[in-house]
Amino acid sequence: MRSVRPPAAHLARMQPYDPKYLPARAFLSANENPLDVEDKLRQEIARELKRVPLNRYPDPLANELRDQIARAYGLRREQVLVGNGGDELLFDVALCWGGPGRTFLNLPPTFSVYEANARLTHTKTENVPRRADFSIDEEAVLARVARGDVDYVVVTSPNNPTGNAAPAGFVRRLLDTTDALVLVDEAYGEFCDESVMPLLGDYENLLVLRTFSKAYALAGVRMGYVLGAPTVIEQLCKVRQPYSVNALSQTAACAVFRNRERFAPAIRGIVAERERVFGELAAMPQASPYRSDANFILVRVPDAHRVWERLYDQGVLVRDLSGNPLTSDCLRVSIGTRQENNLFLGALAEALGPSERKADR
Ligand code: PMP
Repeated sequence: MRSVRPPAAHLARMQPYDPKYLPARAFLSANENPLDVEDKLRQEIARELKRVPLNRYPDPLANELRDQIARAYGLRREQVLVGNGGDELLFDVALCWGGPGRTFLNLPPTFSVYEANARLTHTKTENVPRRADFSIDEEAVLARVARGDVDYVVVTSPNNPTGNAAPAGFVRRLLDTTDALVLVDEAYGEFCDESVMPLLGDYENLLVLRTFSKAYALAGVRMGYVLGAPTVIEQLCKVRQPYSVNALSQTAACAVFRNRERFAPAIRGIVAERERVFGELAAMPQASPYRSDANFILVRVPDAHRVWERLYDQGVLVRDLSGNPLTSDCLRVSIGTRQENNLFLGALAEALGPSERKADR
């Protein structure tokens, strides 16, 4: 076979994104909603999907969904843009505000996709690492943006993989300090009480990202959206793939968004389970969980990679973060059903070896 010439040089050090999805009894590695869309709503979606013309291109901007989202937040259509998952919109932001000679400010440990997008768009990444407890080093971030060369910042709230939300007061101070685009990634926003959406009217440089993949149980549909100033949305429209959001996804997401109140009990259930799992982890002598505002918990354990293997042997798939020096000895576990969480807790207790609960000592 004749060989192909090498691809673009900047790909040499990159690896394809690997969600590390393996067969398991309990999938607790991707922060999905453990419960699928309930039957009645699924039937409603199925009926609507039947009427979608498959031979026609979809509405490129998904205006029906945009209008629904805009109405729900008291915004205008021009302040909303939907994408093929939040991932597509994150890439669009890097295409618009990154680029050769431009700078992205990252607050690691955080979602790895931001830095990958910066590389793909030849954007320089500057890091202001979080403190040991994973809170944002607020003064260091403010000092860094005050130098004036940062083009965009991503503040993940709640943060993946650490679980903690960013204080709204900090986001406001950041917005007051810089004219860089501040993307607040609220992919897990439905699991906590804080949102920076109320600040949207005051700052042209604020962009808020949300997704249907977590609280709204549509990870398989691929649907995310951003809220921001019309001037910012207009720039994103220049780089987006015109038909990225297919007609079936638009229809399913419209039905789910219209019925989003129906997800409230399941969201409350996940939050209650999160608190229960946290308590159980905190009671294990060898486990140190971090408080979470999301639908997952980061937990420090001795020899995390070996523990990950032992959990997997028991059919429990969690995310191994021990390869990253900022989260060495950490595993991230999504909150599943009560049964899945118990399976995880039992397997973890076994993997960590025989020991008494902290409270029993
Ligand atoms: N932001 C964060 C912080 C995430 O964890 C994820 C999903 N892992 C996303 C954005 C993107 O989600 P999606 O593409 O499924 O909307």
